[in-house]
Amino acid sequence: MNRMALNRLILLFFALSFLVASLDASEGEADPIYKACLAECEKSGCVGKRCFQHCKFSSDGKPIDGPWYFQEPLYQKWKQWDCQSDCRYHCMLAREEQREKLGDKPVKYHGKWPFQRVYGIQEPVAVAFSALSLAMQFHGWISFFILLNYKLPLRPDKRTYYEYTGLWHIYGILAMNFWLWSAVFHSRDVELTEKLDYSSAVAYIGFSLIVAIIRAFNVRDEASRVMVAAPLIAFVTTHILYLNFYKLDYGLNTKVCMAMGVTQLLIWGIWAGVTSHPSRWKVWLFVLGGSLALLLQIYDFPPYKGFVDAHAVWHAASIPLTYLSWSFVRDDAEFRTSALLKKVK
Ligand SMILES: [Zn+2]
Repeated sequence: MNRMALNRLILLFFALSFLVASLDASEGEADPIYKACLAECEKSGCVGKRCFQHCKFSSDGKPIDGPWYFQEPLYQKWKQWDCQSDCRYHCMLAREEQREKLGDKPVKYHGKWPFQRVYGIQEPVAVAFSALSLAMQFHGWISFFILLNYKLPLRPDKRTYYEYTGLWHIYGILAMNFWLWSAVFHSRDVELTEKLDYSSAVAYIGFSLIVAIIRAFNVRDEASRVMVAAPLIAFVTTHILYLNFYKLDYGLNTKVCMAMGVTQLLIWGIWAGVTSHPSRWKVWLFVLGGSLALLLQIYDFPPYKGFVDAHAVWHAASIPLTYLSWSFVRDDAEFRTSALLKKVK
């Protein structure tokens, strides 16, 4: 890779870190009309002509009027289908409808864009793309498994010739785990699903950084691999514990994920620039697509027609990127296996 390309990558890195710093906070919940609607709704249990069953109960689950056996079932409290979430959703829709008539752009409420629910699913488009990404990950992982175990020759002790088999298996499992919780979280956004989504995203991004370093630098012996992985696993674990048990800090988490994401794109980009690997163009394409996808995370535009926002497009972009990455991994397994076999002969 030449100097120019390297300089460009460094520039991109700085541009990205500058943009991360300029992410802004939500304003919808500060709107006085929205606030008045919420206060009214929690008192009367209605927004306009719509009234909510959950508002017949006070926030601790005790019925406001009626005997004890009308207590709200525990599972509904656990799912957080309560008066507050019904009121927030319908006040938001009512306010957004007014704003749209006045020609105002959508604003965020409690940190989230206003989405239209479909059959109770909060972000149906993001759910669909997460499910498709999950399917694509599964396909990629299975085809990698079949290639290594049934198509390529194995060592006399039945192990694969390819040195990175175990790493890609863990990568595949963490990726599928992430897409599963992403689909769940976008269906129903409560504290538990949000923590599961964020934690599995951090684990997935963190582990893919480890794979990037080990593969790009050809780290093959066990001791050096542990030297690379141990500090990163310690960092990622600490960060996940911090998010779950101390503070779910969105700003900090965005920075951590961005830093790990940009670093692995840089590593892959530079590697693809210097290597003579026959499938390096796939890595280049992945780095290009991955950088554009990262930009989507930063230019966080509101949902079009209440459905497709930047985050959903980002999940859509993951589908071809997933295909591309597994396609490279399969090529790499074949390439390394034949190189090792040539050495043996
Ligand atoms: Zn998501």
